[in-house]
Amino acid sequence: MSIVVEGAYIATMDAAGTEYPNGHVVLDGNRIVAVGAGQAPRSEDARISGGHEVVDGRGCLLTPGLVNTHHHLYQWITRGLAADSTLFEWLTTLYPVWAGIDEDSVRVAATGGLAWLARTGCTLTTDHHYVVPRGGGDVFAAEIDAARAVGLRFHPTRGSMDLGHSRGGLPPDSVVETLDDALRGTADVVDRWHDPSPDSMLRIGVAPCSPFSVTTDLLREAASLARAKDVRLHTHLAETLDEEQYCLDRFGCTPIEYMESVGWTGPDVWFAHAVHLDDSAIDVLATTGTGAAHCPTSNARLGAGIARAADLHAAGVSLGLGVDGAASNEACSLRDEAHHATLFARARGGPRAMTVRTALELATIGGARVLGRAGELGSIEPGKLADLALWRVDGLAHADIADPVAALVLGGTPPLERLIVDGRTVVDGDRVVTVDEDAVATDVACAHDRLVAKAG
Ligand SMILES: [Zn+2]
Repeated sequence: MSIVVEGAYIATMDAAGTEYPNGHVVLDGNRIVAVGAGQAPRSEDARISGGHEVVDGRGCLLTPGLVNTHHHLYQWITRGLAADSTLFEWLTTLYPVWAGIDEDSVRVAATGGLAWLARTGCTLTTDHHYVVPRGGGDVFAAEIDAARAVGLRFHPTRGSMDLGHSRGGLPPDSVVETLDDALRGTADVVDRWHDPSPDSMLRIGVAPCSPFSVTTDLLREAASLARAKDVRLHTHLAETLDEEQYCLDRFGCTPIEYMESVGWTGPDVWFAHAVHLDDSAIDVLATTGTGAAHCPTSNARLGAGIARAADLHAAGVSLGLGVDGAASNEACSLRDEAHHATLFARARGGPRAMTVRTALELATIGGARVLGRAGELGSIEPGKLADLALWRVDGLAHADIADPVAALVLGGTPPLERLIVDGRTVVDGDRVVTVDEDAVATDVACAHDRLVAKAG
């Protein structure tokens, strides 16, 4: 079944910033075949294979599906803990809880987290999974199953930690792997699952956790592995001043200088957070093509600081948005990240620091660029993959806001009339249709209780 959307305000997010106040989009299978003003020309009917459904987009804003560049899905069952803590306090509280996760609990958590991402307009998400307990089963197969069930395009990254507390790291020894196990496990996940094809629904990245939880050897070896297998590299960086102090004490340099010294810059690398950067660090990211995932809500939740998002964007750094893990952002809504990115940028840099359209750019084509998918998705253009979000902006919350993009970014979260991923409907009438939302909520609550009880 193909889909035609008519009557919507369309923000294509193409390079020219084209918008159609009353436009149409024609999908054929998993591809966009036409975009334009007014009704879809009847001549398009012949180009669509098989039957098609016409979606009435009147009163709605059609955008590219939102792209989430940083997440920890397993944390969906550990939300609300250490509610008033710093990053390092929060981590040391949660590591022992996370040590109890396994294949079953990760499947439940990922299903919940992915379903909620769908409800908030996300069509492509990454995941950074760095807790791999011994005897916990196949946690990566579990989250990949969950992504297939919910129907989102998925870029999970195989995380790892090999620097436990006894060797000067932050995590307890019980949740870290040996360097060899981490590398072997990472290679295995890439070999089993990575699909480099242009239509890919599943790509794998390599993601040691952070400078304070992995050894320098693991960073170097992980970069070699990722480059040998032609996949992307991801980690947390420059999230807090505590981390900066850790790097200064241990390595005698800033986090970005440290990563540069181990070969971790380039267009195949993206860092989560990038909050504490000086001008020279921003210059390093810009000149090397290294990307960043801006996570304003998580950074505020943990009091980490406000990233220089406007400066990063102005410098030409490849920049996307991320919800970060559910344990440090209980809302986990990509729409909220665009809202907060705009507000925080202006609170920091004045009223012109970030426009609503720049925020939508970061949430769509910006994120696609960070993940190396800008040629295939992130904007509404013929030939691109059919990943779309249709937002209802004619209700009480938004009806008098003349500019639908301002309604989406500055107003409350609009009901999601439709979410289409790879040509398939995932959300219809503000409900996920691929999984049973109520059953997932019940499963999530039970998994949370079991995990917390296990940690004692
Ligand atoms: Zn994170």
